[in-house]
Parts: sequence; C-alpha cells; structure tokens
Amino acid sequence: MRVPLTSRDFLDRAELVYGDRIGVVDEPAQPAPSLGEVSYREVARRGRALQAGLDALGIGEGERVAIVSHNSARLLELLLSVPSSGRVAVPINFRLQPEEVEYIVGHSGARVLLVDPELETSLKGVRAEHRFGTGEEYEQLLRFDAEPRPWSEPDEDATATVNYTSGTTARPKGVRMTHRNTWVNAVTFGMHMQISDRDVYMHTLPMFHCNGWGLPYAMAGVGARQVVIRKIDGAEILRRVEQHGVTVMAGAPAVWNAVLEAAADWDGVIPGRDRVRIIVAGAPPPSRTIARVEAELGWEFNQIYGLTETAPLLTVNRSRAEYDQLDADERAKRLSRAGVPSLGTRMAVSDSGEVLARSNTVLAGYWENPDASAEALEGGWFHTGDGGSIDDEGYVTISDRKKDVIITGGENVSSIEVEDVVFSHPAVAEVAVIGIPDEKWGEMVTAIVVLAEGEQASEADIIAHCKARLAGYKAPKRVEFRDELARTATGKIQKFKLRQDFWAGSERQVN
Ligand code: AMP
Repeated sequence: MRVPLTSRDFLDRAELVYGDRIGVVDEPAQPAPSLGEVSYREVARRGRALQAGLDALGIGEGERVAIVSHNSARLLELLLSVPSSGRVAVPINFRLQPEEVEYIVGHSGARVLLVDPELETSLKGVRAEHRFGTGEEYEQLLRFDAEPRPWSEPDEDATATVNYTSGTTARPKGVRMTHRNTWVNAVTFGMHMQISDRDVYMHTLPMFHCNGWGLPYAMAGVGARQVVIRKIDGAEILRRVEQHGVTVMAGAPAVWNAVLEAAADWDGVIPGRDRVRIIVAGAPPPSRTIARVEAELGWEFNQIYGLTETAPLLTVNRSRAEYDQLDADERAKRLSRAGVPSLGTRMAVSDSGEVLARSNTVLAGYWENPDASAEALEGGWFHTGDGGSIDDEGYVTISDRKKDVIITGGENVSSIEVEDVVFSHPAVAEVAVIGIPDEKWGEMVTAIVVLAEGEQASEADIIAHCKARLAGYKAPKRVEFRDELARTATGKIQKFKLRQDFWAGSERQVN
C-alpha cells in the first residue's frame, strides 16, 4: 500500500491521540489577542476553519498563502493547516523591508497575504488581492460554520511551502519544499532527537526560517506541547523554561550566547538543568560555547547541519554512549563538528572541497527558477555551497564557505545584495562586502569601501543609507575605507585577500 506522505499527518495524529492536551501556548505579550493555551483538538478545528475561510475566498489548491509574522500560535496554525489543504504556505522573514516582502509576495504569486499587526504600519504599502492582519481580521477569516473542501488528490510531491532564502544572488530564491521533504525531515529529526509526548518544545527559532526547521510538524506528530516566544531575550528564555517545563529548544549560536550571558546573573539553579536539550545550527559553535552550555546551564548540546534547501536536516551530532567516558573539553571538541548524516542522507565532498548531499529532504527545486535548480542539483547531488571535510569517523566539519553568503545571528545575507545597496550611495566608487568574525553575531557584515574622487561619506552615512533600504540585520555594522581593493588580473575583486586581514589566526573560515 502506498499512502502519500503529507504534512497533514502530523496535526491529524495530534488531534486523534492528544486532542485534549494543551498543544500550543501562545505568546502572552503580543499586539494581537493572544490565543492563550490551545488544545491540539482546537488547533485542528481552527485549522479547518481557516481552510474553509480560504475556500470561501476562492483560493484553490496549489495557490500560495503568504504570511509575514513574528512567532505566534496563528503562524504555527498556518504552517500546520495551509499545506494540508493542498495550498502552499509562504512564510516570510518579518525583518525584511517592505520592498523585499513585496518582491516575495509578487514572485510567489500569493493571492492572500497575512500580516502581523506589529508590522501593519511598516508593511502598509505591500499589496495582495486579499490581505488580513493576523489578529482580529484573521479571526474573521475563519469559518467555523462550514466544512473545508478536502484536498482532492493528496500528493507527497506537491509543494507544501515555499521558503525564500538569501543566497548568492541579489534577490532571494524560493525553496520549493514538498510534503515528502517535510515529512521525512520531521520524522528523522524526531527520531534523532528522541522527541516524545513528554517533551515541551519552545520556539526560540523563528518559525518562518525553514518552517522552524520543520520542528512544528515533528512536535505535533508526537503530541509534544509547543510554547511560543516572540522575542529572543536570554533571561526571558530562562524564565519560560522554568514556567513551562521546557525540554527542547533550537536556535543559532547567538541565542545560546544570550542565554549564557543571562545565566551569569541568574539567582539559584538554572531552569531545566539536566533536563533541557538544545539543537544548534546556522554556524559552527566554538567548542568553548559547547562546554559552557553543558557546565553553566547543565543543558544537553546537540548540533545539526543543513540548509533551507534541505528541509533542513542533513547531519546530526548528538553525544553518543562512547562520549560518556570523555572529559568535558574532549566531548565539546567532538560535538563542535557538524555531525554524521541523518538516516537516509549521504554526504560527500567534491574535488574542490564543496560539501554535497543526497537525501529525501533535498528541495525539489527553486520556485520559478529552473536555472538555479539545475545548478544546485547538478550531477544528482545537492551543492551546499559550504566548504568542509569528512573525517575517518564519518563526521562532517564545515570550515569554509564557497558561496558569497554571510551568516549573521543565524540569518543568511547575500553579499551581492548588500554591495548593490552600498554602491547606490553616490559617494561610493567601489565596494566589497564580507563577513568578519564576531563574538556576538558569529559573522559581522562589513563593507570595504573606496570613495569616489572628491566625495565624502562617513561610516555612519553608509550604514544609515543601507538601513533605509535593507532589513536591519543585512546592513553593514562596520565600514572600512580603502584607497583601492585587491583585484585579479581580470579585474575581479579578490575577496579572500580582503578577508585575510580579519580571519588570520582563525581555525575555520566561518564563524
Ligand atoms: P539557511 O538556509 O538560512 O538555514 O542557512 C544554511 C547555511 O547555514 C548553511 O549553508 C551553512 O553555511 C550554515 N550552517 C547551518 N548549520 C551549520 C553548522 N552546523 N555549522 C556550520 N554552518 C552551518
């Protein structure tokens, strides 16, 4: 028998098996009315009411529903129930500027756009055929009086979500994630992290980012409670771990640095000691951070590696039985590698040192971008754009980036996109944007600028120019002025030479 693997399975099971238990705890402090504590039965009922609402609007199967929102129970509901109806969810990064959101809404062809009330004013110019705020207006969209039309032919190869991600091009690309990708990612992730109905998961990761790494599906499938948190603040994370009995969280190294900082001022036993397990990805965490997480917080450290293009799970590094005998530093060293392939994944390194992957979690292609899709999947392997190696034990280590992407605080920034904007400043003659190692952000967006003859501009001028045109996290935090930039004989800027000044002495070329 062949039953299509669709993302609907997860909430269906939560409703059937764990209908009565609190499935989602919404953020109390938000501009929309908080949903408070919602049972999985109610999450599923509201999901059906949303589908019926979309039916009433005439939004058909395969059509896109875009959402720009901070973490919220409503966003979670949308991720769980829009794809179940055969429609496609397009979660958008809430930090983007209106023009960037507008591009994504237009490129994905979304007829429906849902906007967080907090972003209502800043995004007022972004239009779609149907636009709703994710507060009261969203509630009006729900139709509890009608049964939704079921998905006519559930298909595991259909697109479940399109997730826009910054890469090597000036414009973001839409990753077409299928139901099958979502399913395999959620199930293998859950298996490797041994999640169960006893877990309480807190969303310290933005849900828009690769659908919260697919964890909302994994958690719903086993009936684990999901706690929403909107703003990342170390002390608040500690308080809520205590309040909700949290056992699992995921996030970039910057999140755990914030928690470590807050823990230094925390009175008494750290909440979740010997109970919480964290899952870290986005950048290679220094082994010192890993040792501190275990010693100062008493939380279990796990690393994964992957991309939005790979659902994201490719490799896992979880302390294995053999590590129990090791001292803390030695264990931290082993956990600082990206990890071993997850079940069903094959990893390789190309002759040029690029990390390659084959897995059922790898994207079907980029939305409306056959050239980029063919390039990424060339030769039957997914090309990650990351440089790395695989050791004798089969562990992948990421040491370099082949692609011109900076990862700051866990979010991708395309150097080219920032260069375009810096270059649009009238005083700038030449620019190269690079990432430099930074304790807080992992990598810091830095612009190296040559001013046009007779022109004047300060670091603050360039930064303000970028902040007005780009999401804040993409704007350079530092600008350095030079008389000229190192170039090859053919005139190409030699970024590796510019990077050398900042990365000399670093073990890896990514941070
Ligand atoms: P995104 O698609 O935004 O999730 O970003 C994916 C990128 O994050 C990868 O291509 C890597 O460059 C980086 N990344 C993710 N996980 C790790 C990790 N564990 N170690 C090093 N880099 C990572």
